Amino acid sequence: MLTAGVDIGGTNIEVGLVNDEYKVLDRAKKPTPKTGPKDVVKAIVELVGSLKEKPLAAGVGIPGAVDGDTIVQVPNLANWDADFDFVAKLRKALGIPVAPGNDANVGLLGEWLAGAAKGYEHVLGVWMGTGIGGALILDGRPYTGSLGAAGEIGHVVVRAGGALCHCGRRGCVEAYAGRERMSETVRALQTAGRKTKLFDIEDEEDKPRPTSKVWAKALDDGDEVATEVFNEGVEVLGMGIGSILNVLNLERVVIGGGMAEKLGKSLARRVREATLPWVMAPNPKLEFVPAGLGDDSGVIGAAALGRAAVVEA
Ligand SMILES: [Zn+2]
Repeated sequence: MLTAGVDIGGTNIEVGLVNDEYKVLDRAKKPTPKTGPKDVVKAIVELVGSLKEKPLAAGVGIPGAVDGDTIVQVPNLANWDADFDFVAKLRKALGIPVAPGNDANVGLLGEWLAGAAKGYEHVLGVWMGTGIGGALILDGRPYTGSLGAAGEIGHVVVRAGGALCHCGRRGCVEAYAGRERMSETVRALQTAGRKTKLFDIEDEEDKPRPTSKVWAKALDDGDEVATEVFNEGVEVLGMGIGSILNVLNLERVVIGGGMAEKLGKSLARRVREATLPWVMAPNPKLEFVPAGLGDDSGVIGAAALGRAAVVEA
């Protein structure tokens, strides 16, 4: 059975045509419309229509809180109207079953079915990109919590009264380890007189903001300010992950997202080093690994949601 996996990101919508072995047979992408959910539906219909075969169902990863078929909140997409019945409208426009999920949960689902979490029963997925996303596999099944919002490791508070987070509170992991916040911190240090090449690299790479690629390059070049801010981010992330491990006694931490894609194994190793001092009972089984499917974990996980909507219907 062929299903479409749709990964709605802050920058692009990516669509893949996925088979039962979780292989991506065809793909398409376009920039995410900034004009609200109606145009997002239109863009998805065009992308799915451009695939070489028509899928029987579609799953959609959305950067927001998703409870069943209800999109509760989408803070990171411009002009998103929560009253717009996105899933019903998309279902009607595509003419096939559609299942939505939170993007981090969908990404870990992909990794669990076909990537770095395959065969594991107790897993934390940490997505390091613009922000910090998280997701859980508990007792051998995806765990999304009572309102679909479980796994938000980015908003675990590690420093009471600390740095301001985009969620409006202070001291969250994301306020230190999210790429956007790290870039803001580097900018503030530059304004205060420190020298950094981060924004020169951004210009050289012709990017609108310091992307993961720009960050990876700055770190590779040994940029002092970028390295300092990044190290602090990883330290804080380790505290957050350590606390989660103490609560849930997990066996595997999968590190994904744009930063992991660029930094790979070395990032997983560094996060492990930052986490272990905060873990109460050392677990010999515990491993930290980079995501195995790269950019495709969201598309493959979303396709699996679409498949489940047909198979379980
Ligand atoms: Zn927060």
